[in-house]
Amino acid sequence: MTVHQNFIGGQWTNATETADNINPSNTREIVGVYARGSRQDAEAAIAAAKEAFKSWSRSSVQLRHDILLKVSTEILARREELGRLLAREEGKTLPESIGEVVRAGQIFDFFAGETLRLSGEKLPSVRPGVEVDITREPVGVVGLITPWNFPIAIPAWKIAPALAYGNCVVFKPADLVPGSAWALADIIIRAGVPEGVFNLVMGRGSVVGDVLLNSRDVHAISFTGSVATGKKVAASSIEHMRKFQLEMGGKNPLVILDDADLDVAVECAANGAFFSTGQRCTASSRLIVTDKIHDAFVEALKVRMSKLVVDDAVKDGTHIGPVVDQNQLDQDLSYIAIGKDEGATLAWGGSLVQRETPGFYLEPTLFTDTTPEMRINREEIFGPVASVIRVEDYDEALALANDTEFGLATGICTTSLKHATHFKRNAEAGMVMVNLPTAGVDYHVPFGGRKGSSYGPREQGRYAAEFYTTVKTAYTLP
Ligand code: NAD
Repeated sequence: MTVHQNFIGGQWTNATETADNINPSNTREIVGVYARGSRQDAEAAIAAAKEAFKSWSRSSVQLRHDILLKVSTEILARREELGRLLAREEGKTLPESIGEVVRAGQIFDFFAGETLRLSGEKLPSVRPGVEVDITREPVGVVGLITPWNFPIAIPAWKIAPALAYGNCVVFKPADLVPGSAWALADIIIRAGVPEGVFNLVMGRGSVVGDVLLNSRDVHAISFTGSVATGKKVAASSIEHMRKFQLEMGGKNPLVILDDADLDVAVECAANGAFFSTGQRCTASSRLIVTDKIHDAFVEALKVRMSKLVVDDAVKDGTHIGPVVDQNQLDQDLSYIAIGKDEGATLAWGGSLVQRETPGFYLEPTLFTDTTPEMRINREEIFGPVASVIRVEDYDEALALANDTEFGLATGICTTSLKHATHFKRNAEAGMVMVNLPTAGVDYHVPFGGRKGSSYGPREQGRYAAEFYTTVKTAYTLP
């Protein structure tokens, strides 16, 4: 099989090590063979980006616009093919995968436009005759480190603004999903980015990622992934006094009130908890349900779950693809065992399922009779596992929704304007959904959380400029 190489300093480069990209729907199938970069590769990429920054930071916004638009156009034109690749390497269903590819294309389109809209301010000075200009400049070399669960959308929402605002990029995708990253890199390179402006270094976090974290020449790091790795990014960034941005885990609540429309509530819960195999940082893993609707909701959700087909990600009719790999499956199964040991009732699922091909197939799983202190209600599982917590009323529901160290997304299902409004104002999370699943899907608005879920400025939309630019205040006496 051809080895998909890294792209460093304007060249596709051979790597001494390679890794097989395995299809989680069929572990006998190798999706492709990908380079695994060394420390020297990462260092070379940073040096190339540093050199390229001198001219790219001053390049015309028309050039940047045209490159980003070209990238968007090709991604959207190849949505089916790229979606199939994504589904085969990550395991989300084909419609979900194509949806993610489209989102990546739309993000590049959005930031193509943003290149032309970067504005500053001109203010009168307190000193007569003096003028003050406030402008935004690119930050420099940015290291982009991404997780496996959104193999093209998350890279897109970091790379597009980084390039749009004149930064040079060293992109390190997650080891499990190099396929979508490589395909995206290939599109960006062919769209005409000058040498050194964009570098792809696939490889291990402990090798390639570690070099990024410890380099004095990396001026900003945008990271999405686990809390444990996020803390390393934070510690090293403080050591180097560099900008950093973290998007990490979640333990997102979905509150269902007595006055909710039952069909809407069940759809929000099924989508939020189990779609994308529950492997979303925004997954609704705590279903907080008030007393009077509790039993009807649990029954209706079980009926809905009985209709969810778990199978090969690219097969027609599959609702839930496999878990991404053996490690994640082991983690999911261990939390299912913990839930049972803690005394929760296993109301649905919990078992592995066999399909035509060997894959990591797990039933969507629901626990009931759970309490807020249980580990299954406090720790991120990152699989198709949700638990129901029964509460008396809205006030208790809100208190429990906020009783978590995370704060990414939160949701409520209610027909009460009063409760919806109060919840939007008092939920301690970066994103709040009313009668909608907890996933944040719009590509032109900010994405991010509070507390242990996020650190630093928001990603996406116009808010991305906060991270990918730095402000300069200039005084002039003409
Ligand atoms: P992870 O932390 O294991 O890996 C994330 C990235 O960091 C990978 O590219 C990995 O190679 C790299 N990395 C690992 N060790 C490193 C090190 N020592 N130095 C530098 N880089 C290193 O996370 P994951 O398992 O890929 O992703 C799952 C996690 O991501 C979950 O916790 C999930 O909630 C979170 N996530 C958050 C968001 C969000 O926007 N908040 C979105 C998606 C996923």
